[in-house]
Amino acid sequence: MANIEINTTSVQRRLQQAARDAGRNPEDILLLAVSKTRTSAQVRLAVDSGLSSFGENYLQEAVEKIDQLTDLSISWHFIGPLQSNKTRQVAEHFDWIHTVDRLKIAQRLSNQRPADRAPLNICLQINIDNEPSKSGLTPEQAIEVASSIAALPNIRLRGLMAIPKPSNEPAEQRQPFARLRALREEINGTLDNSQKLDTLSMGMSGDLEPAIHEGATIVRVGTDIFGPRS
Ligand SMILES: *Cc1c(COP(=O)(O)O)cnc(C)c1O
Repeated sequence: MANIEINTTSVQRRLQQAARDAGRNPEDILLLAVSKTRTSAQVRLAVDSGLSSFGENYLQEAVEKIDQLTDLSISWHFIGPLQSNKTRQVAEHFDWIHTVDRLKIAQRLSNQRPADRAPLNICLQINIDNEPSKSGLTPEQAIEVASSIAALPNIRLRGLMAIPKPSNEPAEQRQPFARLRALREEINGTLDNSQKLDTLSMGMSGDLEPAIHEGATIVRVGTDIFGPRS
C-alpha cells in the first residue's frame, strides 16, 4: 500500500515550492485530498498525516464514509457530477460542492440546506476547453447565471472549478487555468462587493504546479496522495 504520510509530505512540498515560485503565500492554497474509491481507514491515515479537507465523487460512497468519520473534524467537498434529484444529500452532508452546472441545482441546494448548517460553499464547474462531452457551463453561461446564484440564501457562491484537457506540455497546461482566472475576474465585475469570488478550484496530481502559477486556491489531489486507483 502506498505510504500516505510520505506522499502527503511530498505533495505539500510541491505545493509550497510552486507557491514560492509564483510569489504566492502557500497558506492561500488548500490541498484537497480526493478520497474517491478509498476506504474510511485510508482517510483516517490521511487525517493523521495532517490533511483535513477531502473530496468525493460518488454520493453513496461518500455518505457512508462521512457517517463513519464523524469523530474527526473534516471538511467534505463534493466534486462529482450531480443529478438534480440527488441534491438533498449534498445539501445535508457536505461543506462544499465544486460541480454546480446550472441554476436549478443551485436553487435546490439552497432550499435543501439544513437551517443549522453554515451556507453551502459552491463553485461553478466550467467547461474551459469547450469539449462537447464534458460537463460544465460555458464561460458565457457562467457569466449569465452567476449573479442569480450569488443572490440565493443558504449557499455561498465562492468561485470556479475546471478540469482542463490533459496535456504534458507545461506551457500549454497553464493556458486553460489562465482563462479560468480571467473568467473569475470578468464575473467579479458583475457582482456586488460582498459577493466577489475568491476561489479557483483547479489543478490535480499531474498539473498542480501550473494551476498554482495561475492562481489556484484549491488543488484537488488523489493519486499522488493515496496511490493509483484500481
Ligand atoms: C479524481 C479527481 C481528482 C483527482 O485526480 P488525481 O489525478 O488522482 O489527482 C481531481 N478532481 C476531480 C474532479 C476528480 O474527479
